[in-house]
Amino acid sequence: MKNKYDSNEAQRSINGYPDQPEGLCLRVYTSRLIGSEADLVLHGGGNTSVKCRVTDILGEERDIIYVKGSGWDLGSIEPQGFPGLDLAYLRKLRRLESLGDEEMVNQFRTHLVNASSPNPSIETLVHAFLPHTFIDHTHADAIVTLTNTPDCEALLKKVLGEGIGILPFIMPGFPLAKAVADLYEKNPAMDCIILLNHGIFTFADEAETAYALMIDYVSRAESFLAEQNRSKTPAAALGTACPDTDIILPLLRGGMSHPDENGQTFHLHLRQNEKILAALDRADAGELLVSGVLTPDHVIRTKNYPLFLDFSHDHDEKQMARRITAEFAAYAERYDAYFQRQVADKKVERSKLDPKPRVMLIRGLGLVTSGETPKAAMIGADIAEHTIAAKISGAAVAPYQELAESSIFDMEYWSLEQAKLGKGKKPLLAGRIALVTGGGGAIACGIGRQLLAAGARVFLTDINQERLEQVRDMLAGQFGPAMVSSLVMDVADSRSVQQCFSRLIRESGGLDILVRNAGIAHVARLQDLDEKTFYKVLDVNLMGVFQVIKAATPIFTRQGTGGNIIINSSKNVFAPGEAFGAYSASKAGAHQLGKIAALELAPLKVRVNMINADAIFDDAGVSSGLWDVVGPDRMKARDLDPAGLKEYYRQRNLLKTEVLADHVGNAVVFFASNQTPTTGATLPVDGGIMAAFPR
Ligand SMILES: [Zn+2]
Repeated sequence: MKNKYDSNEAQRSINGYPDQPEGLCLRVYTSRLIGSEADLVLHGGGNTSVKCRVTDILGEERDIIYVKGSGWDLGSIEPQGFPGLDLAYLRKLRRLESLGDEEMVNQFRTHLVNASSPNPSIETLVHAFLPHTFIDHTHADAIVTLTNTPDCEALLKKVLGEGIGILPFIMPGFPLAKAVADLYEKNPAMDCIILLNHGIFTFADEAETAYALMIDYVSRAESFLAEQNRSKTPAAALGTACPDTDIILPLLRGGMSHPDENGQTFHLHLRQNEKILAALDRADAGELLVSGVLTPDHVIRTKNYPLFLDFSHDHDEKQMARRITAEFAAYAERYDAYFQRQVADKKVERSKLDPKPRVMLIRGLGLVTSGETPKAAMIGADIAEHTIAAKISGAAVAPYQELAESSIFDMEYWSLEQAKLGKGKKPLLAGRIALVTGGGGAIACGIGRQLLAAGARVFLTDINQERLEQVRDMLAGQFGPAMVSSLVMDVADSRSVQQCFSRLIRESGGLDILVRNAGIAHVARLQDLDEKTFYKVLDVNLMGVFQVIKAATPIFTRQGTGGNIIINSSKNVFAPGEAFGAYSASKAGAHQLGKIAALELAPLKVRVNMINADAIFDDAGVSSGLWDVVGPDRMKARDLDPAGLKEYYRQRNLLKTEVLADHVGNAVVFFASNQTPTTGATLPVDGGIMAAFPR
């Protein structure tokens, strides 16, 4: 691992924060260097600190310790990511015999310099009790690979030198802080302490030295592992073929999910690359990789064990489905037994977390992770990928030694984590995946916005990439790029639809909500209606509905968790207009298809409902494709300008109201959240037009 310290950059950091103590500026700089190495820390892992003398508002000098705050990532940390605490006070706590985690957090919060700081790291007292100015702590892959072996103390001393301190695994908190300080005081020459099954601390009075020590010790471990691996012949590959993701991923997602129609569903993340595939294709992959986490920090993200799956002996979809059901049930049984054993042993009460795997290792396919959000699934995949590499590399040295389940349980069911459960209401559509066609239009803005606001992940599709990206960018800006994606798709082309649905599955694992919103219009009286144009309108407005329902049905079937199809229909179905034959007839056909789908898909608990919206012109600068075509003709017929036309339509409805894209979005969320047992129904969103009352 390369030492990236650059004194010019360090100076730039000092200049960049003129109001902050110099030590804190340097702390920000080397913390970012550490955070930029995925082999050192991943997603908020690790923590660093600095001790500074500062003058308070009374003009008195005080020693303040700045420690990484929770919720901050070392790679992008800022000075405000380091809550400052009263160092002299924290050091007094060492006198105590014991200090519980809740009280410890309370002591941190009541001794902050800034009341609005985030909670300081749970390892704060380790940093406070050591005398050094700069302390760096990581869960470096190469270090934990060496610690997770049976005879690790001798191995660590051989690789890292006799000068290091070594501690057995102790839960982060007060006892760990005392143990680290006691160990250091026995031999103040040491500049590094290794915590078995956890990670490494390095410390010094200069930022550059503490960082250099970290890089140096980790590099020694990396070189040793590389050397050991060089002399080993690579394991033989089985040559497993890749199972069909269109089939496997929805089956897995269904297996993960709660069977109730408003039960929990997960987002999946698929990761495939040569290294992962080669690791999973080793004959000993199951033994080697189904073992505990590298460092207990990971257990919250990945659970202790991955689930290993091999479909090479399953010849059809039914066999695959049976295997998934059986393997998930066995995993849950093992998880439940672990939970029962631990609560009984420790005589504690805890709320059991869901017993489904977070990491699935699938031979021939890669790794698939599950999470309550797309981001959680992605983080799980990053951790799992590093874990696979570390275990493969460690296998060249010694068998893998996992941490005892009692310590894993302490971390997974830590009282501070348990206290967070059930707090904060889950969004209505959390864990749900939606696909919205016609994604480049005004109504899609409102539908996408409301689905995202309700917690769903949204895939927008459109044939027009430019318009599609405009809507996607707008929604991604508001809800984050992980929650909204775009896929170019032509609803009228079965191949394009199939490809698009395959990508949807690879990117998310499945589908819960299909919103058919794509449509085109053409203004012509029947005698002037050109046959080709009529077919084109039919292709998009009628065949497009058929294509997407047909493509979505196998996904709903494989998941077995119900679902919703919502068709953005039209008031024209009940109240057609002259010179609008192609549109009205195709929409009426689509409406009828929706009713047929309601009949056919009810056994799958998939509901199909229609929304009849009217006169939605634009949203956030995105025009409606329909009104781009119809508007000029209507304005001409009524001798109105665009504003006048809007007013005309507002006055036309019973409620004298303007109909907005968000109103359609609200109706979509209503159906998609199963609030009433309704299927085959039509909900007008038009301000009230008597001629278009559903009948
Ligand atoms: Zn740690």
